[in-house]
Amino acid sequence: MGLHQMTDRIELVQGDITQQETEAIGNAANSRLAGGGGVDGAIHRAGGPSLMEDLKANYPRGCPTGQAVITGGGRLKARYVLHAVGPVYSGKPKDAELLASAYRACLSLCSQHGIKTAAFPSISTGAYRYPLKEAAPIALRTVAAYLTTHPEIALVRFVLFDSATYAAYQQALEVIQGRFAS
Ligand code: ADP
Repeated sequence: MGLHQMTDRIELVQGDITQQETEAIGNAANSRLAGGGGVDGAIHRAGGPSLMEDLKANYPRGCPTGQAVITGGGRLKARYVLHAVGPVYSGKPKDAELLASAYRACLSLCSQHGIKTAAFPSISTGAYRYPLKEAAPIALRTVAAYLTTHPEIALVRFVLFDSATYAAYQQALEVIQGRFAS
């Protein structure tokens, strides 16, 4: 199976992840799982207090960078939230591995919990300042690689909040598809 085929289970949309009807949505959390601004704040506001209660009860010590934890979705349409901790961009080679690892951790939770459809935001490219041009291909390649070995996942939708983020992912996806088409 070529990467072209793998990516037919990846979708890109511009929008608000809190409105998604996938079984799970990803959150760009911080390692204390303390809530914050950006997509984290939006998800906690939309999902309600049960998300934070769930985090405090089950993960009181937080979550290391590059890992993820799962909670219920509270008032969200999604049944689960995958709270992933991406790296704060430092410009060092380990950034890329930690970013890829954060997506893989979410996907692994999907496999463990029988979750077939998930939506992800662009982890680390907001307050954590990961350059979009570097982060988009890492996110897409990591998901595409996971999907090749995990047919149980039917759909991964990237929900990109603004047009610049959407454009960066669109361009990165075209590069990945173009390289493996023909
Ligand atoms: P990080 O700290 O990991 O960088 P941020 O929340 O600051 O996380 O930013 C990650 C991305 O999430 C940014 O592209 C930001 O524009 C985007 N974002 C913010 N709110 C939402 C939302 N409601 N739905 C989807 N993406 C969002």
